[in-house]
Amino acid sequence: MECVFCNIVQGKSPATVEWEDEKVIAIRDTNPQAPIHLLIMPKEHFPSIDNVPNDILLAMLETAKALATREGFSNGYRIVINNGPDGGQTVYHAHVHLLGGRPFGWPPG
Ligand code: 5GP
Ligand code: ZN
Repeated sequence: MECVFCNIVQGKSPATVEWEDEKVIAIRDTNPQAPIHLLIMPKEHFPSIDNVPNDILLAMLETAKALATREGFSNGYRIVINNGPDGGQTVYHAHVHLLGGRPFGWPPG
């Protein structure tokens, strides 16, 4: 099945890669919702966060934190996981959003 993020992982589609290791890859979101908006995802295809093994889940969060430090979000940042239709998930290859460079409100819409 065609998956936009698998195509990026496999180098078939272009992306701005900000981090890559054996488990995860981090790219810039093409429709950024903040001055910095990165997507951290497993290299392996899992449709949603519900399917991701714990070690990869941990790697995704660790990568998000490390990138937040690297980006210099000293005043804070937002990590988001949209899960399923009600969660607003649109790409069914599990990913974590890292957003920074502006303040965020709560609760979300
Ligand atoms: P979701 O709503 O599934 O949590 O978020 C999917 C995100 O992927 C959206 O923020 C959207 O802008 C981003 N996105 C969709 N297609 C592409 C793409 O081809 N490349 C990149 N870099 N981001 C994408
Ligand atoms: Zn995929």
